[in-house]
Amino acid sequence: METYFRDVDFTVIGSGIVGLSTAYHLRKNNPNAKIIVLEKGMLPEGASTKNAGFACFGTLSEVLWYLESNSEEEVYNLVERRFLGLQKLRSLIGNDKMDFHQNGGFELFRENDKELMQKSLENLDEINSWLKPIFKRDVYKKSGRDFDFKNIIGIIETELEGQIHTGKMMRNFVKLVNENEISILNNVEVSAVNDTGNSVEIELKNGFRFNSGKVFLCTNAFTKKLYDLDVVPARAQVLVTQPIDNLQLKGCFHMDEGFYYFRNIGNRVLFGGGRNLDLEGETTTEFAITDLIQNQLENYLREIILPKQKFEIEHRWSGIMGMGQKRNPIVEQLSQNVYCGVRLTGTGIAIGSLVGEELAELV
Ligand SMILES: Cc1cc2nc3c(=O)[nH]c(=O)nc-3n(C[C@H](O)[C@H](O)[C@H](O)COP(=O)(O)OP(=O)(O)OC[C@H]3O[C@@H](n4cnc5c(N)ncnc54)[C@H](O)[C@@H]3O)c2cc1C
Repeated sequence: METYFRDVDFTVIGSGIVGLSTAYHLRKNNPNAKIIVLEKGMLPEGASTKNAGFACFGTLSEVLWYLESNSEEEVYNLVERRFLGLQKLRSLIGNDKMDFHQNGGFELFRENDKELMQKSLENLDEINSWLKPIFKRDVYKKSGRDFDFKNIIGIIETELEGQIHTGKMMRNFVKLVNENEISILNNVEVSAVNDTGNSVEIELKNGFRFNSGKVFLCTNAFTKKLYDLDVVPARAQVLVTQPIDNLQLKGCFHMDEGFYYFRNIGNRVLFGGGRNLDLEGETTTEFAITDLIQNQLENYLREIILPKQKFEIEHRWSGIMGMGQKRNPIVEQLSQNVYCGVRLTGTGIAIGSLVGEELAELV
């Protein structure tokens, strides 16, 4: 025990994308520090291993929606941080090691989204000019493609959206952290964190206690069990089909104001969403899939996405996101020696590695 838990300078709680990035950047800034990462799962078991792998920064209608309740500066910064976060992730892990492909992102509009589509198209030029300093080009355009979808009245696309293999990304991120002399300890759940002013006393679920100089909460949806912050759990359910012959769709697709999303993984389709069917029931940290949502996903596959093709479902799973009143992550010093990087919402792949870097720099 002593070898692992004595004289610890920095303890990171949670080994999702934010925890791994925090640990890595702490090492860059503190070459001689003793750094450990504690993870309650056998593997990282939060959203980082369960997500859809969209390397995205926001659809046009999402940007317009944010602008309704946030200042222009806040929205601009959020889009910029997502885009910069993606560049950071790509440079840390490498495109090949996480199967990064820039196949584009497509926002689909159905008949009942007509107003939303019109509003988006009316604002397209203005938003493109406003975001040009970030992307150095027009980021959104009206799409001429239809991918054989049914009941879709229009598509707005961006060529800059990409996709990754999330399992490969996480496996290589863990490897990178291990190579930097950082121990990741799995099956270790933290039950309490107490800042004494000089250091932080950490209590584990099995009753063991030790001290750490500084502590970084990277616990996203599970944060409330340790600290009272504005982070609300939001379960998200996903399914993946078996391989489909002659699959036409390639890229990342968003529908129903972002409540549904799908993409190709080779010649299979990953499809997720439907939380809006039962927002209350899906506000939970319990992993589970439900008939209500899974049936709707299958209906949409049949009716809209793959109307001409037969398909079988290969896998289904759920993951838990950390949401809250605001869309931006909380990256803060909470007390003398405790810091947090949480509330990554549905775009933590984009922004997560940057949040880890920012968190490490607070020390
Ligand atoms: C189904 C689904 C699809 C998604 N799709 C996308 C997408 O396509 N693109 C995108 O950008 N984002 C997507 N997201 C969101 C993205 O996955 C998250 O924003 C991101 O992974 C959050 O990273 P994190 O490190 O903050 O949290 P997490 O990955 O959740 O990591 C937190 C870790 O902390 C650990 N932990 C918690 N409490 C404790 C404790 N007390 N002691 C020890 N360990 C603890 C957990 O086990 C977990 O491993 C999706 C999420 C889900 C669920």
